Amino acid sequence: MSIELLPWHDAPLRGLLSQREKLPHAMLVYGRHGIGKVKFARAMAQSLLCESINTGVACGACAACGWFSHGNHPDFRELKPEVLSAEDADTEAPGGAEDKEDKEKKKSKQITVDQIRELANFMTLSTHRDGFRILLLHPAETLNVNAANSLLKTLEEPPPRTLILLVTDQIGRLLATIKSRCQRVLLSAPDTATAVAWLQAQGIADAELALGQAGGTPLAALAFADAQYQSQRKAFVQVLAAVDADHLAAAQAFEKSELVNLMTWLQTWVGDVALSRLTGEVLFHRDQAAAISRIAKRIDLPALFRYESQLRQTRRTIHHPLNPRLLLEQLLISYSQVITPL
Ligand SMILES: [Zn+2]
Repeated sequence: MSIELLPWHDAPLRGLLSQREKLPHAMLVYGRHGIGKVKFARAMAQSLLCESINTGVACGACAACGWFSHGNHPDFRELKPEVLSAEDADTEAPGGAEDKEDKEKKKSKQITVDQIRELANFMTLSTHRDGFRILLLHPAETLNVNAANSLLKTLEEPPPRTLILLVTDQIGRLLATIKSRCQRVLLSAPDTATAVAWLQAQGIADAELALGQAGGTPLAALAFADAQYQSQRKAFVQVLAAVDADHLAAAQAFEKSELVNLMTWLQTWVGDVALSRLTGEVLFHRDQAAAISRIAKRIDLPALFRYESQLRQTRRTIHHPLNPRLLLEQLLISYSQVITPL
């Protein structure tokens, strides 16, 4: 049993651990989505709770590390919205899909004041192991106002040897009062070589392609590398690559697909077409570089930019489209109008 530490977290983690006697009471770990910030915070917590003589990164072998790995260290708590806890536990409701959906609706997407209040004993009684007491809270932007206010009381008068770790990739959405009481820790995405090597070690065949699609963030790239996701993406962008595609038929073929994915592919495709026209480069759909370059020569650039901003506006409203097929038809027809016929 060893500690799960991503290679690009090693140096920043050791940096923080070297100051373990001078740590603040609260730290806000922030940075881009998909770089493993929660994993970083867990590795930090485990390292501080580890009871081996070593004072660096957790040993992964002592009793404290064992409890931590099994999720039952008595001096550690992890708080997240109910809806995320449900995903983690992967609980399949016996009543079937509809029943499950019903239950999902009732689960909170926020960290609630009740969840903070339930921590009262944990935060005030003495610790079990005579070391740190650590609370990890994520995503921090899901703290609702009441919960944040309740947490603020703790942040103002923290018990000794207590560390509160907040994690967010939307630091702008946090209350200023919370931010001002935390030391900020910016976690960066790894360089390309590190990220590619790590993805290859996870068994990802085309690591560069997945990383490009994820904008350089390796954990997001891992999700993008999923075979089913990739085959759907390829099928969809082939419609975009074919100048004379039947867009009504395509809208029908893809109406049951995740609209969010389709929008992402469409937006990144349009971005690639613009980039290819201006610089000859392709960022996201590297496996389609030839087709993109062909399309790029035929587009009306101002019309493409207008289309791009139309896509951005549509994106804000796609969570509950009245008619996904109609929306997709409109988007694809507008797309075809941007390409000048030869
Ligand atoms: Zn240990």
